[in-house]
Amino acid sequence: MTLAGPARVSAFVGLGANLGDTARTLASALKALAALPETELVAVSSLYRSAPVDASGPDYLNAAARLETALPPEALLRCLQAIELAHGRERPFVNASRTLDLDLLLYAERKIRSQHLCVPHPRLHQRAFVLLPLLELGPDLSAPELGALRSYLSAVSDQRVERLPGG
Ligand code: ADP
Ligand code: MG
Repeated sequence: MTLAGPARVSAFVGLGANLGDTARTLASALKALAALPETELVAVSSLYRSAPVDASGPDYLNAAARLETALPPEALLRCLQAIELAHGRERPFVNASRTLDLDLLLYAERKIRSQHLCVPHPRLHQRAFVLLPLLELGPDLSAPELGALRSYLSAVSDQRVERLPGG
């Protein structure tokens, strides 16, 4: 008899970095995501370069990843924060430049509002650097309460973001 483990669900993670060797950091973070327990890294978007939003500092390198995971959302968030810390993340003030930011954008069709975790990520539909890589992974993606994510693209068309060639 085989014992089925907990059901796996799709989760989407947004990656961002604007300090240090950002390309190397994102590559390393993706490796760490692929190595998470009970989790498979199933898709990664292109890389994007974007201007900081509501902040100053160097441009960001961004991407999005799709996981299939049996980790509960809070456990997944703790794993993301551990990966951030392992890549030198510090939080001196809100929106400060960072070596690595990993945000849990979507977790199955779940809506979560707890002290440490809000899913869908509260600002995902306001940020071109999140929407573009996410829609690359799933052009028809929708989120609880927000609906079809592509419908938010026109509202963020003034934000500077550029898809980098070469994957
Ligand atoms: P931001 O990414 O918004 O610039 P941080 O990465 O410093 O800010 O995260 C601040 C806090 O946001 C974290 O301590 C975490 O508990 C909380 N948080 C709430 N929802 C999420 C989410 N969906 N993904 C990541 N962090 C989240
Ligand atoms: Mg974050």
